[in-house]
Amino acid sequence: MNTPLAPAQLAATDRAHIIHPYLPGTAEERVIMTGGSGCRLTDAEGRSYLDATGGLWLAQIGHGREEIARVAYDQMKQLEYFTSFWEFSNDRAVELAARLASLAPEGLGHVYFTSGGSEGNEAAIKMARYYHHRRGDTGRTWILARHKAYHGIGYGGGSATGFPVYHEGFAPMMPHVSHLTPPWPYRKELFGGQERTPEQVTNFLIQELEERIAEIGGENIAAMIGEPIMGVGGMLVPPPDYWPRVREVLDRHGILLILDEVVTAYGRVGQWFAAQYFGITPDIIVTAKGITSGYIPLGALLVGDHVAEVLLRDHGFPMGYTYNGHPVAAAVALANLDIIEREGLLARATAIGGHLHRELESQLGDLPIVGEIRSVGMMLAVELVADRKTREPLPMLQPLLPDVIRRESGVIVRDCAHSLVLSPPLIMTETEAKETVTAMRSVLERTL
Ligand code: PLP
Repeated sequence: MNTPLAPAQLAATDRAHIIHPYLPGTAEERVIMTGGSGCRLTDAEGRSYLDATGGLWLAQIGHGREEIARVAYDQMKQLEYFTSFWEFSNDRAVELAARLASLAPEGLGHVYFTSGGSEGNEAAIKMARYYHHRRGDTGRTWILARHKAYHGIGYGGGSATGFPVYHEGFAPMMPHVSHLTPPWPYRKELFGGQERTPEQVTNFLIQELEERIAEIGGENIAAMIGEPIMGVGGMLVPPPDYWPRVREVLDRHGILLILDEVVTAYGRVGQWFAAQYFGITPDIIVTAKGITSGYIPLGALLVGDHVAEVLLRDHGFPMGYTYNGHPVAAAVALANLDIIEREGLLARATAIGGHLHRELESQLGDLPIVGEIRSVGMMLAVELVADRKTREPLPMLQPLLPDVIRRESGVIVRDCAHSLVLSPPLIMTETEAKETVTAMRSVLERTL
């Protein structure tokens, strides 16, 4: 029988047996979480935390919902697994696929299930290449991506990821991936050093895209993959005309558009999908995280009907996972979508996200290290600079700012590149929003 470990033993036993991704930024023991409710988490010592990152950008409905636990329990009793998605299906997966198709942008009526975001991007990249291959367009192997992108840790999505640090030691990465400039207007050095209007930033990026396509040859490119708002890059929000214009260029060259909405889907930006926020219809949307609010691993690709029609010819799409369409995960996702709908969390993301943004402006706006505050819905970032005029990025500080904020105030925020980022549960209250920003202020005003 499993004997529960005393709080003091947990961290030491964790250190002895678990390979974590990365080591903690501090010398102190790792915090071991043991409970959660609403926007709060509790650790093994009984300390309480305000979770302003929504777990890892996914806890749309907040922690500790009994309704979800009951759904998982009932489904496990009824049917915990079945006999593979090859020859069989299951009722919950069918219901979820129909529900997702009803929420998706027009024309994305097919679903391919995975267990998470990295698997989703692997599937999407392979799907794009395979789609062209099945149509006899066999030269289309290249994938366009952007610097500062994060597409998970597989060799496909990982190669499309645009941070050298994620490639170091893992080479060779997948060939035939080409990275473009990210849409990050605040970093004017990316666009020739001058201040530019949003339209000029888009013009620059579209020209670069056209030139890159000409270099590689449009007939050799399968797809472009991109996060609508770049999360790990620091919540980079493109100009409003960027995605519609990218879509138009790709269409002209027969290149598929894969939107990686692993973070942005299911209400985080105030719509079901960021594609709707930007007014575009991609060919494939990759989702995960918020589809279950993190209660159980699941991912889903929403696939254009024109793509699905090709994949479903003859023997079908020859790529399956053991956990495609897992019934318990599907049941949890359905219950999670019910809660998002019933509690009006899309509208809430816009309202509380706007409130949080104003709170950041009013409490942090005067600090010399605060360069830019940007957000869409409940994705927010505070970009930190050493010099507001030159916009020179703030060097990495030791100890890391999120660690100091957590230790002093129990508020959990993350740093991405030179920004502090927030992606709280969509149910966050105004009082919790204020608590989050006050905790940030008390540390940032002493920094530099
Ligand atoms: N794509 C994006 C945009 C992400 O932010 C992440 C994870 O944060 C992933 C993909 C990878 O998802 P997962 O960690 O579920 O594999």
